[in-house]
Amino acid sequence: MDVHKLRRLPKVELHCHLDGSLSPDFVKEYLSGRFHETVLERDLQVEPDCRDLAQYLEKFALPLRCLQEPEGLQAAGYDILRQAAEENIRYIEVRFAPQQSTHEGLTVREVIRAVLDGMEKGKKFGVRYNLLLCAMRGRPEEENWQMLQAGREFLDCGVAGADLAGDEKRYPMAGYRQLFQDARGMGYSLTLHAGECGSAENIREAIQLGARRIGHGIAMAGQSELQKLCREKGVGVELCPTSNLQTRAVNSLDRYPLREFLDAGLLATLNTDNRTVSGCTLTHELELVQSSIGVTDGEIVRMMQNAVQVSFADETTKERLMEEIARKDG
Ligand SMILES: [Zn+2]
Repeated sequence: MDVHKLRRLPKVELHCHLDGSLSPDFVKEYLSGRFHETVLERDLQVEPDCRDLAQYLEKFALPLRCLQEPEGLQAAGYDILRQAAEENIRYIEVRFAPQQSTHEGLTVREVIRAVLDGMEKGKKFGVRYNLLLCAMRGRPEEENWQMLQAGREFLDCGVAGADLAGDEKRYPMAGYRQLFQDARGMGYSLTLHAGECGSAENIREAIQLGARRIGHGIAMAGQSELQKLCREKGVGVELCPTSNLQTRAVNSLDRYPLREFLDAGLLATLNTDNRTVSGCTLTHELELVQSSIGVTDGEIVRMMQNAVQVSFADETTKERLMEEIARKDG
């Protein structure tokens, strides 16, 4: 498919961080208006010589400063749906860590409310959505637990699931067993970042904890037992090629495991991770895997259907999305 067709294709995205996806114009205007600061594009996007995930994560400091007041949070919720609509994304799950937006005195509850208000305004763009709440690696368990507890009231009215984000190398999955057992008990569906930095064990742990999807899951490459487990349990895999190259989760596209995952019958999906930090769109990611590793048009459509299947949308929404993808006219 050429890029115009890819852009028009009805799409579903499951792995998109709000802070890493604030459009550059939005961050520039917000920080110059509030703090008279000049922000350049290169301050927001990762450098080509990025060494690892830890360095990649440094790029989130500036956007996070836009997410400390209700106005910024609302505008961010609106901004992400506007961007999604531009490339005909029909449904998106947007994730963020509300506890990182409490530096100016907002409560977690107020933070989530503000983002949902902004998304409500953005409904006019016609993109359906859910929010996912991220616990953060390296932060106190109590802080993560309190955040999930505060987010409960929004379950099934804008919030659909919980995630674990941050530096996976330093903070493996094993330290978060109790937290995610509790999260499931609270009613959250789980999608967990695991296997982004080489650890297949983290993926195994995440599945044992009841994760319905794995964020990245690169370390599943070559692990037939683990792939079998994913197939049996219907676990989805959220791949983000540009981001995975930037964080050195893979060294080159030749080694990118998407082809292996598709051939193995895994429920693979394609995502941006961070539109602004990574400098990509979902259309760009689709084009990339078509041109570099020979993903076919049929496989593109299959990945969209996979995304619907493993999404946390309600059944009615899933049925409609499947129809829209089948019609290919949005
Ligand atoms: Zn991510």
